[in-house]
Amino acid sequence: RLISRLRMLNEDFDTEAEGWQVDRVRAALKTDRYFHGVYYPKAFQVDGCKYVHGLAALARRAGARIFEDTPVVSIDHSGIRKRIVTPSARLRATHIVLAGNIHLGAPLRRLSDTLLPVWRYAGITAPLGERVHEIIGFKGSVMDSDGVDHFRIVDGDRLMWESPETTWAARPQRFAGSVRRRIRSIFPQLGNVEITDMFGGATGQTVHGMPQIGQLRKGLWVASGFGRQGMNTSAMAGQMIARSILWGDERWKLFSPFELVWAGGTTGRVAGQLVGIWGRASSAAAGSLARYRERAKVKDREREARLAEANRAAGTGPRRPPSGVRPRLAQPPK
Ligand SMILES: Cc1cc2nc3c(=O)[nH]c(=O)nc-3n(C[C@H](O)[C@H](O)[C@H](O)COP(=O)(O)OP(=O)(O)OC[C@H]3O[C@@H](n4cnc5c(N)ncnc54)[C@H](O)[C@@H]3O)c2cc1C
Repeated sequence: RLISRLRMLNEDFDTEAEGWQVDRVRAALKTDRYFHGVYYPKAFQVDGCKYVHGLAALARRAGARIFEDTPVVSIDHSGIRKRIVTPSARLRATHIVLAGNIHLGAPLRRLSDTLLPVWRYAGITAPLGERVHEIIGFKGSVMDSDGVDHFRIVDGDRLMWESPETTWAARPQRFAGSVRRRIRSIFPQLGNVEITDMFGGATGQTVHGMPQIGQLRKGLWVASGFGRQGMNTSAMAGQMIARSILWGDERWKLFSPFELVWAGGTTGRVAGQLVGIWGRASSAAAGSLARYRERAKVKDREREARLAEANRAAGTGPRRPPSGVRPRLAQPPK
């Protein structure tokens, strides 16, 4: 699976990605929870807050006006000049881009209903000192292939750890204990760390997992459903839509096969939560099995080494294994 994933990343997506063997992963992350890894040498992280302010500054410089805390309460998108209503103003526009994620609500309820809201929660530990670098020697972000945990070191020696998720809004502080337990189960050497901050936010997930990018009708655009994708994809959607509005570039049509699918309302949320619980449980079971197999392999190797040692001690030529050691029979030739 790792090899085919690396091939896909390199060949189909022209992405620089390295496959790391178990030893290399564990040299960087002192835990037996992780096995092989995919390393992206050119990956980088952005500070989300600075990114948003940077975008706003660029937009203003280009002539845009931004009105914060101004909900759009309704839109009429039927004509060429569309109408937009806020609590204190009415506007006309040739193009509207609906980029409201799960919060969009009244302006186009049917669109919000195609997203499964998933709240993810993250915690930040108190400073952990030098020992955190001995245990986590990797400077970038780490995520397991099932997407259960996502972490990195911030502020020099604190750990930012994202893991719990719900399909309803909850107080992030409620999950401090669960973040602490996750950290302890992956890196027991860190002990019982103190969580000083918790935060959370909603992502909107589509039923097919692909983002919603495209034109619903002439001049009415949608850019949402970036849960499981992230900010990089939201930036790409923004560029594609802007290029189409300005220059008629039709690349966004590549996303047309992924239609707007109703997310199932309350039933969808309950199902989503259950699927999440099931996914985590099966990931934990697969992890236990992999570690069991690994331990069994180590025991096998030790037994073989003992047998070889005993054979050497008994001299050359046909020999009997020492009592208590079962002989390994050679495979007959195929
Ligand atoms: C805890 C957490 C950690 C994450 N970590 C990462 C990460 O490490 N890397 C990464 O790439 N992504 C991460 N994400 C995901 C990333 O934040 C989202 O993919 C991204 O923010 C989605 O952007 P968006 O513009 O679609 O929606 P949002 O960022 O939700 O923006 C939608 C905006 O529309 C506004 N709005 C909605 N309705 C209306 C209305 N009617 N009128 C006016 N305004 C309206 C809202 O107020 C909001 O400001 C994380 C998300 C969470 C919750």
